[in-house]
Amino acid sequence: MSPRSLSGGWMEVITGCMFSGKTDELIRRLDRAEIAGQDVVVFKPSIDDRYSEDSIGSHNGKQWEAEVIDPEDVGEAEERLNGEEVVAFDEANFFSAELIEICEKLADNGRRVILAGLDTDFRGEPFEPVHELIARSEYVDKLQAICVKCGEPATRTQRIIDGDPAHRDDPTIVVGADEKYEARCRDCHEVRTG
Ligand SMILES: [Zn+2]
Repeated sequence: MSPRSLSGGWMEVITGCMFSGKTDELIRRLDRAEIAGQDVVVFKPSIDDRYSEDSIGSHNGKQWEAEVIDPEDVGEAEERLNGEEVVAFDEANFFSAELIEICEKLADNGRRVILAGLDTDFRGEPFEPVHELIARSEYVDKLQAICVKCGEPATRTQRIIDGDPAHRDDPTIVVGADEKYEARCRDCHEVRTG
């Protein structure tokens, strides 16, 4: 397929738990597309202010300029498009379900759409809208981290609040709490339910 052609689009998902290298892999794909002379645009949700407002960064310091949009108004991404052949969304799990429809439309219109995001939340439950994006995508790569407890491949995101595993009913933001996340395997992943 000619890189300039705008027929034959598709969707691809890079997923996995936290610390599995999703953004590194996204940046690698974007770098390669740019080397091939393709026009690329990256969107990220405005709630993620990690590293800087207008770039996506990997844990090893690599950066790519990103367009910051309201995760509840994905239509803003369509308005900002300027004929790019490759359209990427980082932190796809933070976007509303509107992302699904827009990605389908972009792929139908010949774009290569790349999505990176968590497939499950800290409870180990499928994360909207990523699970549906996985079902609708031509290509899916599920990356693993390394379990901090046992060293086996990790597929789950462990949430820890004030030193204890989070309760499954804990809200997304616990005000004033010391909160952290770890990569863990199925056996070592803990969710308090009692
Ligand atoms: Zn483990």
